[in-house]
Amino acid sequence: MAKTHREDWEIRGWQGVVVEVPREWDIAAISGDRKQGYLRIDDQENMPRVEVKWQEATGFADIEGVVDRYLTDLNKKRKKGEPEIEVDRRCPVVSKRRMRKRDLTCFAWKGEVEGYGAGWYCEECRRVMVVQVMAKPDEDGLGLAGAIIGEMQDHPSGGWITWSTYGLTMQTPERFDLAGQKLMAGLIQFQFEDRGETLAGARWGMANVALRDRSLEAWARREVAPFHKGVKLSYEETQFRGHPALLVTGYFSNPLRHLQSFVVHVMGKPYPEAVRGWIWHCEDENRIYYAGGMLDEDNIEVAEQVALRIVCPEADEPEDDAGELIR
Ligand SMILES: [Zn+2]
Ligand SMILES: [Zn+2]
Repeated sequence: MAKTHREDWEIRGWQGVVVEVPREWDIAAISGDRKQGYLRIDDQENMPRVEVKWQEATGFADIEGVVDRYLTDLNKKRKKGEPEIEVDRRCPVVSKRRMRKRDLTCFAWKGEVEGYGAGWYCEECRRVMVVQVMAKPDEDGLGLAGAIIGEMQDHPSGGWITWSTYGLTMQTPERFDLAGQKLMAGLIQFQFEDRGETLAGARWGMANVALRDRSLEAWARREVAPFHKGVKLSYEETQFRGHPALLVTGYFSNPLRHLQSFVVHVMGKPYPEAVRGWIWHCEDENRIYYAGGMLDEDNIEVAEQVALRIVCPEADEPEDDAGELIR
C-alpha cells in the first residue's frame, strides 16, 4: 500500500505529479499531457483545494515571471464585487532546501479564500511547476500548503509513473503515455500507449451487483474485450494476489505475424502481438480490477508488473515483491 505522511491522507497522482491530500479531496479537473498540463483537486464541498500547472521548458525558465503572470491572471479571474486579491511574494510556504529546487519562489494571496503556493523549475523532468493550495480563512492555510507542497513529487521515480484517483492507484513504466481515461462513479479506467503497445488498468465498484447473476468469467468476457480489440481472448481461472481471478491471454491473429514481427524487430521497434492480463475480484473492497496489456512478447512481463503494482488490499499476506509503491 502507498504510505502517506499523515493519517487519513491519500495520494493523488497524474502525469508524474504525486500529492498527498486529505482522503475526501480528489481530482476534479485535468487537462493537457505530460509536457504541459493542469490538475485541480477539490474537497468534498467542491471547493478547489490544490492546483498544479506544469509546462516543459528546455532553456531558461523565468520562474518569477511565470508566477507574476499566474497571480495577475488570478486577479483577472475574480468575480465582480469580489475584493482585489492581496498578494504576498515573500510568504515562506516551503523552503528551497526542503524542495531541493534552486530557483524556487513562493507566494500567498488573500481574497474570499486564501492561497499559498510555489513555483520552480525542475531540472530532472525539465518542467516549470506552479502549485497552490487554497484554504478557508479559519484554516491554517500556510501549514496545509507546506505539508502538501513539501511532500509532493513533481516527476516519476524509479522509471514508474503513479496514477491515482478515485480508488484506483496504479503505476506504469515511464515510456507509456496516457491515451485515454474514464473517471466515472462505477468505473475508473486508464489506457496507455507506447509505439503500438498498450496497457490498461481499471476498477469497477459494486462487484456484488455485477456478479449477482453471472460468473466472473461471463462478466469479464464482456468488460475486458474492449481493451484489446481484434484479439481473441482466453480466460483461465486462477488466483491473483489472494483473490479469485482470471488470467486473460490472447494473440494478435494474423498469418503473417511471425514475418511482420521479425521485420519490426529488425527495425528496433516493438511488435505488439500478445495480450496478458489479470482480472480479479477484491471481495473486501467489493471491487473488480483489471490490469493487462497488448505487448511485444519480449516485454510481456510488464503486464504482470503493472498488475502487481495496483493498490488493492491483499486477501492473504502479500507475496508479491513489487515493493513499496510510492517511495
Ligand atoms: Zn521534476
Ligand atoms: Zn484486494
